[in-house]
Amino acid sequence: MRVDIVTIFPEAFAPLDLSILRRARERGLLEVVVWDLREFTTDRHRQVDDSPFGGGAGMVMKPEPFFAAVEAIRAAAPGTSPRVILTSPQGERLTHAVARRLADEPHLLLLCGHYEGIDERVRDGLSTDEISIGDYVLTGGELPAMVIVDAVARFIPGVVGDAQSVALDSFAEGLLDYPQYTRPAEFRGMRVPDVLLSGDHDVIRRWRHAQRLHRTLVRRPDLLRAEALSAEDRRLLEEFGLDSA
Ligand code: SAM
Repeated sequence: MRVDIVTIFPEAFAPLDLSILRRARERGLLEVVVWDLREFTTDRHRQVDDSPFGGGAGMVMKPEPFFAAVEAIRAAAPGTSPRVILTSPQGERLTHAVARRLADEPHLLLLCGHYEGIDERVRDGLSTDEISIGDYVLTGGELPAMVIVDAVARFIPGVVGDAQSVALDSFAEGLLDYPQYTRPAEFRGMRVPDVLLSGDHDVIRRWRHAQRLHRTLVRRPDLLRAEALSAEDRRLLEEFGLDSA
C-alpha cells in the first residue's frame, strides 16, 4: 500500500519510522511519502492560512496548496486512484471496520489540517472520505493521520508477524481481547490464573473465549448484550464461574 500525507509539519511523522511500521516500510509492504504543504504555495511567505470570510476567531487553511499537492501526488503515482482522506473531527469515526475497509485500498492520501480547519472547498472538491479519530478536537491532523496509518497498516498481510494475533485482537470478532500474562507466574502477590499454567490447551482456549465474552459484556455492552449469547457461550461462562448478566 502507498500512503501519501500532506502536512505543514513533516517532521511530526518520525514515529512512522519505528518498530513494526518501520519494518513494514523496509519490506516494501507499506510505502509512506510525507509532503510539505508549504512546497505547494506560490507566494514569497509560503502562506498556508488566511482569516475566515465572515469574520470570527482563528485562521483557516487555504485551498490552493491542498489542490496543488493532491494534483502533484496524483501525477507522481499515475495509475492509482487514491482515496483522499480529510482528517476532521466531523468525519466518519475511525473503527475497526473502517480501518479494515481502508486496508483493501492500494493508495491512501491523507490531508492534515490546523488552526480552525481547512477551507470547505477541499472537502467538497478533493476529498473522498472524511475521518475522525474520536469525539474530541486536536490541534492538528498529524496525530489522526498517524493513528489512521497505524490502524490500517496492521491489516496489510505480513505487517503483523502473526496473522492470528490480528484476528483475535479486540474488536476483530466483535469482542474484546482476553487478559494476557507473562513471566513471572507470581508478582507482588498477584498470581497468573492457574488455568494458563496447566498446559491443557483445550481448557486454555475455552477460558480465553469465556474471558473475551465476559469482558465485552461488562466493559462494552454496546458490542455484546447478554441476550445475544448463544447457549454454548452461556455454558462456557458458567464453566469458569463468570457472570453473564
Ligand atoms: N474547527 C474544527 C471543528 O471544530 O470541527 C476543528 C479544527 S482542528 C482544531 C484542526 C485540525 O485538526 C483539523 O482540520 C483536523 O485535521 C485535525 N483534527 C482535530 N481533531 C480531530 C479528530 N478528532 N479527528 C481527526 N482530525 C482531527
